[in-house]
Amino acid sequence: MTELRPETRAVHLPQPQLDGSRPITVPLYQTSGFVFDDPAVFADGMGRPDGPFVYGRLSNPTVRSLEEAVSGLEGGVGAVATGSGMGAINSVLLGLLKPGDHLIAQKPLYGGTAAMINDLVARFQITVSYVPEADPAALRAAVRPETRLVYLETIANPVTQVADLPGMCAAAREAGLVSVVDNTFASPILCRPLEHGADIVVHSTTKYLSGHTDVVGGIAVFASEELYRKVWHFAVELGATADPFAAWLTLRGLQTLPLRMERHCSNARELALRLDNHPAVSAVHWPGLPSHPSHELAAKLLPDFGGVFSFDLAGGRAAGERFMSAVRLALLAPSLGGVETLILHPATTSHRSLTAEELGRHGIGEGTVRVAVGIEHVEDLWADFAQALS
Ligand SMILES: *Cc1c(COP(=O)(O)O)cnc(C)c1O
Repeated sequence: MTELRPETRAVHLPQPQLDGSRPITVPLYQTSGFVFDDPAVFADGMGRPDGPFVYGRLSNPTVRSLEEAVSGLEGGVGAVATGSGMGAINSVLLGLLKPGDHLIAQKPLYGGTAAMINDLVARFQITVSYVPEADPAALRAAVRPETRLVYLETIANPVTQVADLPGMCAAAREAGLVSVVDNTFASPILCRPLEHGADIVVHSTTKYLSGHTDVVGGIAVFASEELYRKVWHFAVELGATADPFAAWLTLRGLQTLPLRMERHCSNARELALRLDNHPAVSAVHWPGLPSHPSHELAAKLLPDFGGVFSFDLAGGRAAGERFMSAVRLALLAPSLGGVETLILHPATTSHRSLTAEELGRHGIGEGTVRVAVGIEHVEDLWADFAQALS
């Protein structure tokens, strides 16, 4: 070949050659595709989630590193990282359900999931039955010939009910159903649902797994190769797969997940106990408190009780609004699982689509405040809460 001209040289950059060394961290492979010497290798990568890297929507080395890391933490055979938690949840639901199928879910569910199930019912001839999260007999009674899937959440939002994963997953398995568990609130540090009989675990990695409030992402982890490959194919068709930069940020956060969870849980414990004794507070909902309806189950299932709790102000909605505008350190914001303490008012934000009757049934009052505790010093948080309550 003749000497290349500047226009061509500028395009074809030299690749880094790492002779005899390698990066300590997982590099960010910010590329939409890969180059091949052998067309057969190219073809192989198109058809499976664990083959050669071909095209960004199918796979990427940074994304696969995240998938392997989370799959390892959850004890799965494989994982599919997605652009958001809802991307993971919908890849699973839309990938496994077809018109005419019936699903069984607990209630309340994360708002986005609840909205999606309503959509599946309204537009795709799918039917749903709701059962309590810790009632395997109710699950058995709800099974029909066309039931395919059971959907649970390890710890639910915002009053933190804990699902009876061993009982519910066993009932699902007896009936030949696929059980899916949203493990976002627990993280694999507190719970690994596959060990309790679940078939698929989903996460919003936006929350604890990334942990720094700087990325939106999701992941689904599978107990079986068959489900892994099926949902991967569907996530690729849907275009739900993760972006490498988001995966890279999530990997960076994941390295400190165990340390952060320890602090989230200990901060939640201290604040929940102190609020429980505060005269302005009528109830605290955290599964670590013996008064919580899920406490006994949670104590069996989880080594600690998570960093999210909610509490009811005796003064109702007006007191809730006053509290929310009086906090200085805690931030009034959506989401959870980041290093900063965030609070919100479920009745007007995350659970605004529920009727007053439904809110009441799920234990959410006009004066309920949800707290997603961060990793700040607990005395600084308490000082902020105490001044906002006074
Ligand atoms: C945030 C969240 C989701 C949705 O995740 P996104 O990343 O916002 O799409 C699903 N389930 C739970 C429990 C969540 O907290």
